[in-house]
Amino acid sequence: MIGENVKGNCRSCGSSQLKSVLALGNTPLADALVKKEDVDGPEATYPLDVAFCTECALMQIMETVPPEELFCQDYPYFSSVSDTVVGNAKDNTEHLIKTRNLDENSFVIELASNDGYLLQNYVKAGIPVLGIDPADTVVKVALEKGVPTMERFFSLELAKELAAEGKQADVIHGNNVLAHVADLTGFVDGIAVALKPDGVAAIEVPYLRDLIERNEFDTIYHEHLCYFSVTSLTNLFRAHGLYLNDLKRLSIHGGSMRLFIEKKDAPTEYIKQLLAEEKELGIDKFEYYENFGQNVEKLMAGLRDLLGGLKADGKRIAAYGAAAKGATMLNCSGIGTETLDYVVDRNVHKQGKTMPGVHVPIEAPEKLLEDMPDYVLLLAWNFKDEVMKQQAEFIEKGGKFVVPVPEPQVV
Ligand SMILES: [Zn+2]
Repeated sequence: MIGENVKGNCRSCGSSQLKSVLALGNTPLADALVKKEDVDGPEATYPLDVAFCTECALMQIMETVPPEELFCQDYPYFSSVSDTVVGNAKDNTEHLIKTRNLDENSFVIELASNDGYLLQNYVKAGIPVLGIDPADTVVKVALEKGVPTMERFFSLELAKELAAEGKQADVIHGNNVLAHVADLTGFVDGIAVALKPDGVAAIEVPYLRDLIERNEFDTIYHEHLCYFSVTSLTNLFRAHGLYLNDLKRLSIHGGSMRLFIEKKDAPTEYIKQLLAEEKELGIDKFEYYENFGQNVEKLMAGLRDLLGGLKADGKRIAAYGAAAKGATMLNCSGIGTETLDYVVDRNVHKQGKTMPGVHVPIEAPEKLLEDMPDYVLLLAWNFKDEVMKQQAEFIEKGGKFVVPVPEPQVV
């Protein structure tokens, strides 16, 4: 029940003052794609319940699925598959090389460095780097690209090992990893240890305000333990001797922030303004979160009605994007093979498998043009412009897309 007290302790401040925001029920792991021969077998599910800490304003899910189960599967997510992600990384690194005067004497670390899509920009500029990532598949690709990468989970312990070897960083990158770590406080302590006194950590996280305002509930899944506001981030970093001094808002992943964190307390006017805006919105009060659950229920029902209506009219429907958010959208909304013929995805490692829980088969994007379904549910709505451009011919031939958030609509 929304508003009820939730058992447990806050991942950031340790408080037990947690209130329920949304209960999405038991769902399979959003990235645990199922092989076609295994669809009749057992599938693990875990509770997906969202809570809000009234002490430090952190929204979070309560269940911690062991990281070995979440991140070391043989489905790899290669950042380089997305043009948007690669372009974003290039802008990011160019800016830092210039403003921080980085050269061959500098040192850059990336946490969750994936296939080296970001660090390769530094390698090309002759700046020493170290990538850290626990997934062997992506580490292999990074090493082949010439990006030095360590197959490990980042932790306080690893930061201490690196510091003991004199390997503190001028810049630490960490894109879409802070929200994923089970030991949040240890991870932030690790950043403090791995960073030089005048270094900067450039960390990208989705912005809670965008999630709530645009009903992006499908970005909630077991990998995403925390959902950050500027307020909750400020509280988190301060408790570990780090300061959120600046940030840049990004449109990537449905609304993200690139945080700039340093060891001196010197917030820009922009940070002060965002904190004031959040206070005005009441982001530190439970009331802000109260309607969110109802809005999500409304969105899911609306999507079922829309697709059900199309189906009743004899239309054929496919979907685009076999990513985690698609799995949340389909499993929580109860949309499966009765509605969707297949899902397409550019990642060849996903093709031939099926979506977790609902078991909709995954095909290559070329299938859309060959098969010409009437509608395509855009599960990867965060890459809408990129997908629409890719699928220009499909659209020209009369194919239509259904975008599910902030409210279901045909485009
Ligand atoms: Zn807290």
